[in-house]
Amino acid sequence: MKVGLIGGTGFYDLFGSLEDIVVATPYGDVTLFKGEHGDKEVYFLPRHGTTHGVLAPDVNYRANMIALKMVGVERVLAVSAVGSVNPDIQVGAVSLLDQFVDMTKRRQQTYGEFSADMTEPFCNEMKASIQGAARTLGLCMHEDVTLVGVDGPIYETRHELQLFRSWGMDVVGMTNTTEAALARELGLCFSVITLSTDMATGFAEKPPNLETHRKVAEENKGKMKDLVLQTLSDLERNQDCECTVPYQNARLAIK
Ligand SMILES: [Zn+2]
Repeated sequence: MKVGLIGGTGFYDLFGSLEDIVVATPYGDVTLFKGEHGDKEVYFLPRHGTTHGVLAPDVNYRANMIALKMVGVERVLAVSAVGSVNPDIQVGAVSLLDQFVDMTKRRQQTYGEFSADMTEPFCNEMKASIQGAARTLGLCMHEDVTLVGVDGPIYETRHELQLFRSWGMDVVGMTNTTEAALARELGLCFSVITLSTDMATGFAEKPPNLETHRKVAEENKGKMKDLVLQTLSDLERNQDCECTVPYQNARLAIK
């Protein structure tokens, strides 16, 4: 089974030797890194480019997601750094996303062929595998977490964040809502685990900054890698999830 892994540049050393592949998509070329884990062929996609130089609003999301589809990936696991607006989700906490509210305004987040059902934006079977992996590792993970997606790269104002919290949002991020929408249009199973690298502005003593973000990411790298590898071990082929249904129905309608 082919699995996609989207994350930061810290995952290169997970799979021993990696083969880099350039996929020519209708939206531009994408470099993927192919490795193996057990019986899985893993295609690692560094979301922000190989040098981590591409900011969230400038990521070529349509090219990235369709490149994974083009190499035959069925399921995509994404790992993201987020800011917390829920005080119960402290810096260094791991969360499994359940829902999101998309507040981005400037994203190319559709292939423009049909309207996909996003009632449940993440794959239930993948979520169950991630929950099982966390239990196996004895890792504390927040579940049923709701993310609010923002464009970035600027951080939010205090009142924006207070508004998000009053809506019941838990974490703030800049990438996953776009990825999830495109994955659903492509019939890819998609699920996200997040690491809270800061308490968002207005919930912290100090405003978020890159140095703290990197420090927290580094401190928690081990447990994130363990969770990714255990999840990849536990993942199975699509049994009964509905992730591919909108895509299949659209293909039938287009034919
Ligand atoms: Zn699924």
